[in-house]
Amino acid sequence: MAAPRIAVAGGGLAGLAAAIDLTGAGCEVHLFERSRLLGGRATSFQIDGRTVDNGQHVFLACCTEFIGFVERAGMADALYLQDRFDVTVYAHGVRSELRAANLPAPWHLIASMAAYRHLGLGGKLQLARALFALARERAPQGNFADWLRRHGQSIETIRAFWDPFMVPALNAPLEAMSAAEAAFVIRTAFLYDRGAARFGYSKVPLAQIMEAAARDLASVRRATAVSAMETYDGGVRLRTADAHDDIFDAVVLALPPRALERLLGEAARFGVKDLGRYEASAIMDVHLWHDGGRLDFDFCALLDSPVQWIFQKGDGYLCCSLSAAGALVSTPTDDVVGAIWREVSGALPELRGAKLVRGAATRNPEGTYNARPGTVRPAARTLDPRVAIAGSWTATGWPDTMESAVRSGREAARVLLEQNAWTTKL
Ligand SMILES: Cc1cc2nc3c(=O)[nH]c(=O)nc-3n(C[C@H](O)[C@H](O)[C@H](O)COP(=O)(O)OP(=O)(O)OC[C@H]3O[C@@H](n4cnc5c(N)ncnc54)[C@H](O)[C@@H]3O)c2cc1C
Repeated sequence: MAAPRIAVAGGGLAGLAAAIDLTGAGCEVHLFERSRLLGGRATSFQIDGRTVDNGQHVFLACCTEFIGFVERAGMADALYLQDRFDVTVYAHGVRSELRAANLPAPWHLIASMAAYRHLGLGGKLQLARALFALARERAPQGNFADWLRRHGQSIETIRAFWDPFMVPALNAPLEAMSAAEAAFVIRTAFLYDRGAARFGYSKVPLAQIMEAAARDLASVRRATAVSAMETYDGGVRLRTADAHDDIFDAVVLALPPRALERLLGEAARFGVKDLGRYEASAIMDVHLWHDGGRLDFDFCALLDSPVQWIFQKGDGYLCCSLSAAGALVSTPTDDVVGAIWREVSGALPELRGAKLVRGAATRNPEGTYNARPGTVRPAARTLDPRVAIAGSWTATGWPDTMESAVRSGREAARVLLEQNAWTTKL
């Protein structure tokens, strides 16, 4: 029997993860991606002749599925992962480190607080109490800002710990994130395993990993949006925006929620609900090239600033990441570059006297999709056995992250393989 022909619509991490697994299971996989680039929100492009990522992406050691995806793409060497959780934090020119101690979780983090200069003793005790409460409480209710207030966290503790770690993790202000999602992140990263919160990032442009992931697919159609889908007894017919029709045995739709809604038409027919209940949250990166040479960190956090994290991408090149950046995302580039340079050069003593050589900004108004309270995130399985859905925003148990995207794609592949008769004949 010929291998089943499977289409994957959407060449982000979710679609690529599904495509790798389906190819590995013997299917003939055809990928359709609207953009000319692979990787979706985790991709790279050129600015003034330099390749930069669409936005700086980090993962933690607990993101095992994302790490596995990069390994399956044959790019394991492209990843950097810390040996232990070790973070530099600046506030108004004062530098301090949070470095995991050699103790079991969560004591590794609590002990690391002893030397943390941005939080007084009272704040450290508050933080320890909140961490233990998060370990105990099964289902924290309401938004996380309220939860923190109910658990006695002062403005100082929020500013020195919760803001820099949670706002980028969930790409939302504390008032807009659910306490349950925040608790999941804290537990997974800090409370069970001493090594889980180690930071990692790609040493190569993300697009290189995505290209490698697509290497063994039967075909990759770039700049080709899927514009219509029709299911019938024998399979699925897809129409592309350039008016080509093709038929497949099954399809993975690995699209953002609104694009999926448009393609499904009557989403309820597929048992998919609530697609209109996702709010996009912006992420912006400001790239600064300066004449101050190499600084003494790979990456650091900044307190009391619209910039949460700074990554040193090369000598004299800083990439500043701004999460929940809705207020800034439409500011003209010159203004935002000037403002962020003033922030960063004011906060890092090493930059005293340095001059900005060049700046650029990458903007993602749709950085992540956050479900409104009460939304049921859809599972991979739909009412039609030939159609599975994937995407970082679907019901993976994780917030909208690379880890969630890979998990969703793998689950979509598993569901299609499980519920279609052709899988037994592969
Ligand atoms: C600036 C930025 C920084 C981030 N930082 C981090 C981070 O540090 N850590 C982390 O874990 N996550 C981070 N994220 C989130 C992470 O990038 C996403 O969770 C993940 O990449 C989503 O993958 P996905 O495949 O689910 O969706 P997407 O990447 O959105 O992929 C969907 C794809 O579908 C394509 N598409 C849309 N319509 C059609 C159509 N009709 N036909 C064909 N194709 C179509 C799109 O072009 C896109 O390529 C960040 C995101 C951004 C934007």
